[in-house]
Amino acid sequence: MTAQSLADRVVLKNGVEIPWIGLGVWKVEDGDIVAQAVKTAIRSGYRSIDTAAKYNNESGVGQGIKESEVPREELFITSKVWNSDQGYDSTLQAFEESRKKLGLEYLDLYLIHWPVKGKYKETWKALEKLNKEGLVRAIGVSNFQIHHLEDLLAGAEITPQVNQVEFHPRLTQKPLLEYTKQQGIQLEAWSPLAQGGIGLFDERVIVDLARKYGKSPAQIVLRWDLQNGVVAIPKSVNEGRIRENADIFDFTLTDEEISAISGLNQDKRLGADPDNFNF
Ligand code: NAD
Repeated sequence: MTAQSLADRVVLKNGVEIPWIGLGVWKVEDGDIVAQAVKTAIRSGYRSIDTAAKYNNESGVGQGIKESEVPREELFITSKVWNSDQGYDSTLQAFEESRKKLGLEYLDLYLIHWPVKGKYKETWKALEKLNKEGLVRAIGVSNFQIHHLEDLLAGAEITPQVNQVEFHPRLTQKPLLEYTKQQGIQLEAWSPLAQGGIGLFDERVIVDLARKYGKSPAQIVLRWDLQNGVVAIPKSVNEGRIRENADIFDFTLTDEEISAISGLNQDKRLGADPDNFNF
C-alpha cells in the first residue's frame, strides 16, 4: 500500500524498514550548513538521510544527527563507498572512515556508489561481511543497470536490498523498475526532482495536477515516485522546501494521472550513464 504518512516505511527483503522519503545532501557544504539541514529535516519528521563519502559532508551530517537528539534507532542513515575505494580491504577501510565521520556505531544502509568494472564483486563481498557483522543493517547498490545486477546476483550470498538510481519523470527506467520489483530489490530515486530543472515543473500535466490537488509541482512529482513504489531522497537546505517535499501524504494520484506523468519520459539523464562513466 502506498505510504500514508512521513513515518511510514517500506519493508526491504531482509525485513529492515526504510522511510519512503529521506533528505539528500549531495553538494551541501560540510559543517554547520549540512548539520542545520539535517536538524531541520528531522524536526520536520524526516528520519532518513542520504549521504556518501564522496559528498565530503559526513562529519556535518553526524553533527546534525547528534544535535537533533532523536533516538538513534529511529533514524535511517545511508552512506556509499566511492569508486576509488572499491575492492575488498579498501571498502572495509572506507566504511570505517565513513562510520567514524558520522559518529555512529552502525549504518542503516551502505551502497556501492557506482558499478566500477572488475571491482564491484569484491566490493560486494566486503559489504556482505559488514552486514553479517551487524555494522550495517542493509546493503545495496547504486547506479546498477539490469546487467550489473544479474552479474552481481550470480555470485552474491546476499541480494542487494536497494538500488539507488537516477529516476524522475524524464527518466522513468521502466525495465529496471520492473526487474527490481521482480527481484525484491527496492528502487530508490536520486535526483527525484530532476534537480529542480529541465522544465519539468512547467509541463502542462504537472502544472494542471498541482492546481487540481492544491500542491506544488515538486510535490506532484514526489507523490508519483511513491505511487510507483519508489523511495525518494529529494535534496534541499531550505526549511520551507524540506517541509514541502515531505507534505505529500494527503492526496492520491489516479492511475491515469500516474501514466500521464510517466508519459513525460525522454530517457534523459542528468547524471552520468552507468555504462559509460570514467570516475
Ligand atoms: P533533486 O532532484 O533532489 O533536486 C534538488 C534541487 O531541486 C534543489 O537543489 C533545489 O534547487 C530544487 N528543489 C528542492 N526542493 C524543491 C521544491 N520543493 N520546489 C522546487 N525546487 C526544489 O537532486 P539531487 O540533489 O541531485 O538528488 C537528491 C539526492 O540524491 C542527492 O542529494 C543525493 O543524496 C542523492 N544522489 C545520489 C546519486 C548517486 O549516484 N547515488 C547521484 C545524485 C544524487
